Amino acid sequence: MNENLFALFQSRFPADRSAPFLDALDGRVFSYADLENRSGRLSRLLGALGVRVGDRVLVQVEKSPAAVMLYLACLRHGAVFVPLNTAYTAREVAFFITDAEPAVVVSDPARLEETAELAGTAHVMTLDVAGQGTLVEGAEGLDGDAPVAELAANDLACILYTSGTTGRSKGAMTSHGNLAANALDLHRIWGFEPADVLLHALPIFHAHGLFVALNTTLLNGSGMLFLPRFEAAEVVRLLPRATLMMGVPTFYTRLLANPDFTAELCHHMRLFISGSAPLLEETFHAFEARTGQRILERYGMTEAGMITSNPLVGERLAGSVGFALPQTEVRVVDEDGRLLGADQTGVLEITGANVFQGYWRLPEKTAEEFRPDGWFITGDLACQDSEGRVTIVGRAKDLVISGGFNVYPKEIELLLDDLDGVAESAVIGLQHTDFGEAVTAVVVADGELPTEAEIIAGLKAELAAYKVPKRVLFIPELPRNAMGKVEKNRLRESYSGLYEDVK
Ligand code: AMP
Repeated sequence: MNENLFALFQSRFPADRSAPFLDALDGRVFSYADLENRSGRLSRLLGALGVRVGDRVLVQVEKSPAAVMLYLACLRHGAVFVPLNTAYTAREVAFFITDAEPAVVVSDPARLEETAELAGTAHVMTLDVAGQGTLVEGAEGLDGDAPVAELAANDLACILYTSGTTGRSKGAMTSHGNLAANALDLHRIWGFEPADVLLHALPIFHAHGLFVALNTTLLNGSGMLFLPRFEAAEVVRLLPRATLMMGVPTFYTRLLANPDFTAELCHHMRLFISGSAPLLEETFHAFEARTGQRILERYGMTEAGMITSNPLVGERLAGSVGFALPQTEVRVVDEDGRLLGADQTGVLEITGANVFQGYWRLPEKTAEEFRPDGWFITGDLACQDSEGRVTIVGRAKDLVISGGFNVYPKEIELLLDDLDGVAESAVIGLQHTDFGEAVTAVVVADGELPTEAEIIAGLKAELAAYKVPKRVLFIPELPRNAMGKVEKNRLRESYSGLYEDVK
């Protein structure tokens, strides 16, 4: 049997292929027939460019229907899709090109020349800017009826980069089998219905928008409203046409801040789902008070897709991320890997068909993150009640999640420490109503320091905007424990109210 995820999707497409798949909200509606045809043509073009099964296609483009077609073409062709956050700077992209060694780089048009210089022997093209000899133009006129590559379940489908605490990004390798198992579970437990219409406002370079949202819709053979980005007013306008929405917590706080977001708008909605960062209990309750709907919170990570979910039927509890998915097992252990009892906090470990194939070209790093019995150490701190409900307590690693995006403090600390006048620094996340957490730098001087504004401006040239600290604070010394480790929890406590007035 062909384990290619595209073959599974195809087996679920509506019999009437003229049914809508993607409404681009600009007058263009792509049907399932369009999907088959466009992904087929792009797949043919990848073949013509010499891309073989397992070759990487690195993609840094804005969210668009063509980007979705390219993802599907890669699956169909057996190429490994490697999406990058559009906010990455040229310096960051250079690393990913070296690491992934792609056969094709699909670049942001504004970056084309810069990228071409970095890309060595790879083909560098833009996606669909007219008149540039782009990928989409190259595929025109090719036969859309391309074959679906014969693959095994553990053949790679995608590599999604997650930053490391050492500042070194790691490519999480996800197979066709991983994605199929996870999408089938979610499709079942969230009770997808033939008439569902998903409001898709998430980015598609991350597992949430790419795998959770797109793959479940494709398995369902149903349609989606495809927004280029989240805007509360636009969501309010489109909600009457949707039945289902997936978002990061920031989406929900922004909707609540919009006076036009009312209970009447939500009556017909089947489900609001939240994840990628903790949903504050305050937001859960405010949302229920406003709309009568209880947001369904789930928990996952790049390395495993979705892991737990609150139930569709049954109590959705604020603050809890619910139960392990059908094909996933979870356990909470102490630092030495000993199993903990109910309600005890420890490290969350997981196993199951959704757990990834390891980090790209980092076998030692991969081995460190798995227990000898094959369970993956998530790095999240959690507890589980006697019924199996999981609550995420915090992050073992000092990850900051701002607006749903992961920010690894170390990467920013390394740049800060390089500045003249900076002795050392610590980057922490502080609670912020809009972003969930705001990236905040605490700096110790050993000479004449640049100003806060100068530091922020300097970092903007080096880092994706979401990683740049919102504030830089200056202190005489960092608090440390007896082992010399910086006590970030104390810093977080000292500055906990910093963004209280920010709305
Ligand atoms: P990513 O790999 O970008 O998907 O980030 C994964 C991390 O986000 C997880 O390891 C958790 O720390 C965090 N995360 C995701 N969903 C939730 C949630 N519902 N509640 C708390 N933390 C979450």
